[in-house]
Amino acid sequence: MGKNPEMSPRVAKLLKAQKGKCTHCKMYFRENDVLEVDHIIPKSKGGRNEYKNLQLLHRHCHDTKTANDSSLGTKSGCNSAKPKPLIKPEWYWIDDMLVMRYA
Ligand SMILES: [Zn+2]
Repeated sequence: MGKNPEMSPRVAKLLKAQKGKCTHCKMYFRENDVLEVDHIIPKSKGGRNEYKNLQLLHRHCHDTKTANDSSLGTKSGCNSAKPKPLIKPEWYWIDDMLVMRYA
Protein backbone atom coordinates (compact mmCIF):
# COMPACT_ATOMS: atom_id res chain seq x y z
CA MET A 1 0.00 0.00 0.00
CA GLY A 2 1.19 3.45 -0.86
CA LYS A 3 4.36 2.17 -2.46
CA ASN A 4 3.65 3.93 -5.69
CA PRO A 5 2.46 7.45 -5.02
CA GLU A 6 2.81 8.45 -8.67
CA MET A 7 -0.05 6.31 -9.87
CA SER A 8 -3.04 5.63 -7.72
CA PRO A 9 -4.97 2.38 -8.12
CA ARG A 10 -7.83 4.45 -9.48
CA VAL A 11 -5.66 5.91 -12.23
CA ALA A 12 -4.17 2.51 -13.02
CA LYS A 13 -7.62 0.98 -13.32
CA LEU A 14 -8.89 3.74 -15.59
CA LEU A 15 -5.75 3.51 -17.68
CA LYS A 16 -6.36 -0.17 -18.25
CA ALA A 17 -10.02 0.38 -19.05
CA GLN A 18 -9.12 3.07 -21.60
CA LYS A 19 -6.28 0.98 -23.01
CA GLY A 20 -3.84 3.75 -22.31
CA LYS A 21 -5.68 6.34 -24.37
CA CYS A 22 -7.09 9.73 -23.53
CA THR A 23 -10.84 9.72 -24.12
CA HIS A 24 -10.76 13.32 -25.26
CA CYS A 25 -8.11 13.33 -28.00
CA LYS A 26 -7.80 9.52 -28.45
CA MET A 27 -4.03 9.76 -28.22
CA TYR A 28 -2.03 7.38 -26.12
CA PHE A 29 -0.72 8.75 -22.91
CA ARG A 30 3.00 9.20 -23.02
CA GLU A 31 5.42 8.75 -20.24
CA ASN A 32 5.74 12.41 -19.33
CA ASP A 33 2.11 13.37 -19.80
CA VAL A 34 0.23 14.69 -16.84
CA LEU A 35 -2.92 12.64 -16.32
CA GLU A 36 -6.01 13.91 -14.61
CA VAL A 37 -9.13 12.10 -13.50
CA ASP A 38 -12.23 13.80 -14.82
CA HIS A 39 -15.86 13.35 -13.83
CA ILE A 40 -17.77 12.68 -17.05
CA ILE A 41 -20.89 14.06 -15.43
CA PRO A 42 -19.70 16.80 -13.10
CA LYS A 43 -20.45 16.21 -9.46
CA SER A 44 -22.28 19.53 -9.48
CA LYS A 45 -24.72 17.95 -11.97
CA GLY A 46 -25.29 14.84 -9.94
CA GLY A 47 -22.41 12.79 -11.32
CA ARG A 48 -21.36 9.97 -9.05
CA ASN A 49 -17.92 9.32 -7.75
CA GLU A 50 -17.65 5.90 -9.36
CA TYR A 51 -15.60 4.39 -12.16
CA LYS A 52 -18.42 4.56 -14.68
CA ASN A 53 -18.38 8.31 -14.30
CA LEU A 54 -14.63 8.76 -14.34
CA GLN A 55 -12.23 9.11 -17.20
CA LEU A 56 -8.57 9.84 -17.57
CA LEU A 57 -7.55 12.84 -19.60
CA HIS A 58 -4.38 14.69 -20.39
CA ARG A 59 -4.18 17.76 -18.26
CA HIS A 60 -4.45 19.97 -21.34
CA CYS A 61 -7.43 17.95 -22.59
CA HIS A 62 -9.06 18.31 -19.21
CA ASP A 63 -8.58 22.05 -19.47
CA THR A 64 -10.13 22.04 -22.95
CA LYS A 65 -13.06 19.94 -21.81
CA THR A 66 -13.70 22.11 -18.81
CA ALA A 67 -13.62 25.18 -21.02
CA ASN A 68 -16.02 23.53 -23.47
CA ASP A 69 -18.30 22.43 -20.67
CA SER A 70 -18.86 25.99 -19.60
CA SER A 71 -18.87 27.63 -23.02
CA LEU A 72 -20.51 25.86 -25.93
CA GLY A 73 -18.01 27.24 -28.37
CA THR A 74 -16.29 25.63 -31.30
CA LYS A 75 -14.96 22.17 -30.81
CA SER A 76 -11.23 22.04 -30.66
CA GLY A 77 -9.49 18.82 -29.89
CA CYS A 78 -6.03 18.83 -28.53
CA ASN A 79 -3.32 17.81 -30.95
CA SER A 80 -5.68 18.65 -33.80
CA ALA A 81 -2.72 18.86 -36.13
CA LYS A 82 -1.84 15.91 -38.30
CA PRO A 83 -1.73 12.78 -36.22
CA LYS A 84 1.69 11.28 -35.87
CA PRO A 85 2.10 7.57 -36.39
CA LEU A 86 1.06 5.98 -33.17
CA ILE A 87 3.57 4.25 -31.04
CA LYS A 88 1.58 1.74 -29.12
CA PRO A 89 2.61 1.46 -25.52
CA GLU A 90 2.31 -1.75 -23.63
CA TRP A 91 1.04 -1.92 -20.11
CA TYR A 92 1.98 -4.53 -17.68
CA TRP A 93 2.12 -5.10 -13.98
CA ILE A 94 5.14 -5.51 -11.77
CA ASP A 95 3.82 -6.51 -8.40
CA ASP A 96 1.11 -3.92 -7.85
CA MET A 97 2.68 -1.29 -10.06
CA LEU A 98 1.49 -0.54 -13.56
CA VAL A 99 4.40 -0.01 -15.92
CA MET A 100 4.37 1.35 -19.44
CA ARG A 101 6.83 0.64 -22.20
CA TYR A 102 6.88 1.20 -25.89
CA ALA A 103 7.04 -1.78 -28.15
ZN1 LIG B 1 -5.77 14.06 -24.57
